[in-house]
Amino acid sequence: MRSIYLHSPRFDNFDFGSSHPFKSYRARLVYETCQRYGLLAHPWISVIEPEPARDETALTFHTADYLDSLKAANSGFPDFMMACYGLGSGDNPVFKGVYDLAMLMLGATMQGAELISRDRADIALNINGGLHHAKPAYAEGFCYVNDIAVAIHFFLDQGYERILYVDIDAHHGNGVQDAFYASDKVLFLSLHQSGDTIYPGTGFEHEMGTGDGYGYTVNLPLPQYTDDEAYVKAFTAVYPPLVEAFRPQIVVAQIGLDTLKRDPLTNLRCTNNGYREVISMIKASCPKILALGGGGYSIPDVVRGWTIAWAVLNGLEPQDDSATTEPAQDGTGEKLLDEPYRISPGLKDAVNRFIDAKIAFIHSTVFPVLGAHP
Ligand SMILES: [Zn+2]
Repeated sequence: MRSIYLHSPRFDNFDFGSSHPFKSYRARLVYETCQRYGLLAHPWISVIEPEPARDETALTFHTADYLDSLKAANSGFPDFMMACYGLGSGDNPVFKGVYDLAMLMLGATMQGAELISRDRADIALNINGGLHHAKPAYAEGFCYVNDIAVAIHFFLDQGYERILYVDIDAHHGNGVQDAFYASDKVLFLSLHQSGDTIYPGTGFEHEMGTGDGYGYTVNLPLPQYTDDEAYVKAFTAVYPPLVEAFRPQIVVAQIGLDTLKRDPLTNLRCTNNGYREVISMIKASCPKILALGGGGYSIPDVVRGWTIAWAVLNGLEPQDDSATTEPAQDGTGEKLLDEPYRISPGLKDAVNRFIDAKIAFIHSTVFPVLGAHP
């Protein structure tokens, strides 16, 4: 196995604004924590500093006029035309270097994708990738350039025919779903807080793809208060059977961590214990994995969770004299794993009823199309 950890100190140079929840410096904190736990010093692991992507790479998904507008926004001064492209909103502010940051995020993802496709790497991680909301000509949900859609287009161009995209961010991966909705070469699976209660308001179970792609889009909406036990049950009910039926050549995983119970933007109740189990299932599903960070806004919590994810992807146990994997008492201490957490039995019943109905729907509709068995 060969693993690539994509890291650039330049991510520290960008600021969405002090009140904006997206902090690109989180990538440095994850990198430092992985270092501290001895998760980068192994012969099969390389840390690579990515270069920004070039325009022609972004243009495989985005429109030229959108990219021109994003480039104009790089000055930090909005103009009224930018609003047509979603630029300058509260979610997607115009700030100095916004184009540079978007292209660095994309460049990191694409460097991982290229190394995997040239068989120079099996695992690659870009913490500041996974920008699943961006549209070809529209920025939304903190996402300016959709690195995932660009990477999947690249894999298709390289001749891949079975690409599994799994999205465990708390929000529906609407930009990626739209991009491959009619394709039977990209199996899209997203688990997320139901669009009834959160942005972007899509990702319902009946969104199943179209044309050749019918059945190749799988959405499993989750109710508010979903905890580890319910989440892992839901993931286990769909992911391994889909993998077995689809036999992916590569897994592109958006491993967002805004599912955690202290995340300020969402209403799920997960911890990194369940997350670790889910990452383990993803790790076991395919030798080639391009992992991308995505959302995550409770910064100390996501730093610990993504450190665990990198460890799991590499089959490592975190090692540190001052830290163990014993549960953290306050969630901010030296220890990586959260205290286990479960919702109350009354809530649990309602959560289970909601999720069981979604699973039954997927098992009876999508699974027969794909030849998957519960
Ligand atoms: Zn999210």
